[in-house]
Order: sequence, then C-alpha cells, then structure tokens
Amino acid sequence: MEKITLDDLDSWMGPASVKRPVGRALGAEHLAMNYYELEPGESFAFGYHAHGDQEELFYVLDGTATFETDDGDVTVEAGEAIRFSPGEFQQGRNETDAVVTALAVGAPADSGELTMLRECPSCDARTENEVEPTEDKSALITRCVECGTETGRFS
Ligand SMILES: [Zn+2]
Repeated sequence: MEKITLDDLDSWMGPASVKRPVGRALGAEHLAMNYYELEPGESFAFGYHAHGDQEELFYVLDGTATFETDDGDVTVEAGEAIRFSPGEFQQGRNETDAVVTALAVGAPADSGELTMLRECPSCDARTENEVEPTEDKSALITRCVECGTETGRFS
C-alpha cells in the first residue's frame, strides 16, 4: 500500500503550470497518472502528439478543456472524460479564462514512441519536434527535427 498527498509532490516543468506525477509517486508500474492545473492559454502537452503504445484518458475536474483531434476540436467540461487510443493524435488546451484542473491516466506506463508536431516558423509548417532540456536544465525546449529551430521554451 502506498499513499501520498498531491500537494506534497513537486511539479514538473512543462507546458502546464502544475503537473504532479501521481502514479510515479505511488510507485505505479502499469499505468501513468498525472494531475494538471492549466492557466488560461496553457496545455497538457508540448504539441499535437500521439503515443505509440499508450492509451490516454483525461478526466476534467474543474473548468473546460479543448482537445484538438483528427476529428476536430472537442470540448471536455468538468465531470466529463475523454479517451485516446494508442497512435491517436491529440492536444488538450485551456482556451478559457478560468483554470482547468484534470487527471490524466495512461496505460501502460511506458508510452512507447512519441510523435509530436508543432508549428515551425522556419519551415512555415507543422513539423515533427523533439523536447530537450537547456544546458543548465532550467527549462525545456522544443526543437524542429527538420531544421533545428527552437519552437518553444517551457520553465
Ligand atoms: Zn523547422
């Protein structure tokens, strides 16, 4: 048995103000579970992405999240949940003026190969991107795989 208090967990750097690794803190072996708080304009993810092997569920606790999907935008309100299959592209954002809180659950814990797309100003297209830490580890940056341009910085 393991028990934790979410407020005790460090928040991870990234596109959301708050991302607490609940599953990892509990020692979960077969699933990943993260708690998110998104300020207006923030996102759960670095870009429009798909996990090779992992199905992913989001349960919105407060506010309204908007998920970009291959079928268009889907809004998910407090009390609603959404599931994405392995290989399905998606990115959830907070497009409202209020904070969004949500739980994300993925299984298995190892999500497999990540494919992540972002707008690259140099390529003038949405291209595949990778995430890497800055040299001093104070931020994470996204970089276009095609041309090497930095497309985003998250701290
Ligand atoms: Zn590029």
